[in-house]
Amino acid sequence: MRALSLGAALLVLGGCASIGSAPDRSTATVVGESEDFIVAVPVRNETSATLARTYLADATKAWMIEDFNRGARTFAAGQRVVIPRRPWNPAGVEPTGYQLVPILVYHNLGPQSKGRLTLGSGAFAEQMRYLKREGYRVVSLAEFVEWLRLKRQLPRKSVVLTFDDGYHSFRDYAYPVLKQLGFPATLFVYTDYVGAGRNALSWDDLKPLVAEGFDVQAHSKTHGDLRRLAGETDAQYARRMQAELADPPLLFQRQLGHGVQFLAYPYGRFDDALLARVQEQGYAAAFTVRRESNPSFVRPLQISRSQVYSEMTLEQFAKNLNLFHEENLR
Ligand SMILES: [Zn+2]
Repeated sequence: MRALSLGAALLVLGGCASIGSAPDRSTATVVGESEDFIVAVPVRNETSATLARTYLADATKAWMIEDFNRGARTFAAGQRVVIPRRPWNPAGVEPTGYQLVPILVYHNLGPQSKGRLTLGSGAFAEQMRYLKREGYRVVSLAEFVEWLRLKRQLPRKSVVLTFDDGYHSFRDYAYPVLKQLGFPATLFVYTDYVGAGRNALSWDDLKPLVAEGFDVQAHSKTHGDLRRLAGETDAQYARRMQAELADPPLLFQRQLGHGVQFLAYPYGRFDDALLARVQEQGYAAAFTVRRESNPSFVRPLQISRSQVYSEMTLEQFAKNLNLFHEENLR
């Protein structure tokens, strides 16, 4: 009952907030209803967003209607539309295979591309607009991790954006585009780099980004390889891991007022001994760089991410967006 009244309240708010936009309320006839589904027949042509705003009290849930109706974003008058009221397939497993979620990694951005890892701002904006235009849903890293725990269903066309190291160019070139498109993102920063010169983000740069909902997570202290070095004693390795894995969360807590849950391995490198340390330090998920998308059953400390290089064409960029692994699971 409580959920229902909250839903009704949101419905009213949603209606008020969107006055002046295109037809914002569905006039479809409801021909069937259960706890899990609503079956509606539009009287005029409608979009998934209008239906979601009206029946799910949230236009951003349009993906639920689209995913349940084979990707359709518009519905013709007289067409039956099944509207799922709650998640129906949290793991994304189908008889024909299972869902994959790509996580993209960016490094430096600049006015023009330079080297492999500095992507031109124009190309970046083009990639983000491509995601929007093609109906991808950019979800946060926290939402992705909830999906791994089967606590949340993700849109079929989900993608996650991450930015490594903590370059100031994120603020200059990525932030305005992400903000305009409403895309969330995670920054993995190594703490020695924070405030280290004009190419680096400072704590004072990071604070307002966090306040606006951007996520800042750990990427070690020094950006050294976190695997044990040849000749390093137990005590030396323990001390180094204390500095690289345990100290950064304390610094985040002090500077940004929140701890961190996630770690990106420098250079994507890890081994079994490091996995044990990372787990011991309480990181909930850790990220490498392997060019593949992730199923919901990926090992949480070995999550793959695909690097976007400056020389990639839009077509090559799109090849990283693999959303489904086909396999006969009947
Ligand atoms: Zn890095």
